[in-house]
Amino acid sequence: MSPLCQRAGSSCGACCGLYNREDHHRPAVEALLASQTEELAGAPRTLEGFRAAAARLAGRDAAPLFPSVRLCPLLGYLDPARTRIGCLAHPLVTRGLDLRDCGAYDVRTCDSFLCPSHAWLSEEEAALVAAVCGPDWYLYGLTVTDVPFVRAALAGVAALAGVLPGLRHLDHAGFREALHRLFALKEELAPGSEGLYGAFRPGPDGEPVPRRIDYAALGRDRASAHDALLTCVGADPRSGNDLDALEEEVRRRLDACARALPRGA
Ligand code: SF4
Ligand code: SF4
Repeated sequence: MSPLCQRAGSSCGACCGLYNREDHHRPAVEALLASQTEELAGAPRTLEGFRAAAARLAGRDAAPLFPSVRLCPLLGYLDPARTRIGCLAHPLVTRGLDLRDCGAYDVRTCDSFLCPSHAWLSEEEAALVAAVCGPDWYLYGLTVTDVPFVRAALAGVAALAGVLPGLRHLDHAGFREALHRLFALKEELAPGSEGLYGAFRPGPDGEPVPRRIDYAALGRDRASAHDALLTCVGADPRSGNDLDALEEEVRRRLDACARALPRGA
C-alpha cells in the first residue's frame, strides 16, 4: 500500500503527536501547527538551530494524553495555503540536512515507523478515506488512524443500502459529501470528549484502555444497532457525550449516505 502519511491529496501527522493533547479540537491544533511552522521558518537550518527552536516550542506544550506517543514540535504546515501538514525537519522539506534528530524521536525511528493502519487498511479503503477527506488533514488524520471506525461507517451504510460503498461511488459528489459528514462525526463531539481517539481512552498510566458503552447502566436492555460506530466516536456518556443524541445523529448521517449512494455504480 502507498504510505498513508503523505498521499496525493491528503496528509497526516497523528503519530507525531498532533491530537495527543487535552485540547485536540481543530482550532487549537491549527494554532499549534501555525506557531510551530512560524518558529521553525525563522530557525537556521542546522542541527543547533532546529534543536534550539524545538526546545523553545516544547517548553510551551502541555503533557501528552498518551505518554507513549510523544509531542513533536517539528510538525507543521508544508504549504502556504495550509492544506498539507508534515515534518518540517525532513530533508525533502529542508532541501538539505535531515534535522529529524532534533525532534521527539530520532531519524531512524521517524523513518521506520508505520502505524497499524498501514497493515490493516486495504488499498481501496485507504484511497477511499483520502478521497473523502481530501486536503482536510484534520479529519483525514482522525479517520485514517481509526480502522474500526472506517469499517463500521462503511458497514453501516451497506446495511441500509445493500451495497458496500467503494471508491467507484465517490464520483458522485452528493454521496462523497454525505460520507464526509459521516466521517466528520469524529470531530463534532462534546467538549472534553475523548472520542477522537476511537474506541480507546487514556488509562490512569496513560496507556490506551478499550472503551465500552455501558448500556445496562443507562437502563437499556441491549446494545445499539450502531454500537461499533458509536463506540468509535466515544458515545459512552462517561466520555462527555449524549448517547441518545449521538445515536440519532449517526442514524441521520447513515440514512443520508444510503439515500445518496448511486445505484448501479
Ligand atoms: S499516524 Fe500513520 S498515517 Fe499518520 S503520519 Fe503516522 S504513520 Fe503516517
Ligand atoms: S521529526 Fe519525526 S516525529 Fe517529529 S515531525 Fe518529523 S517525522 Fe514527526
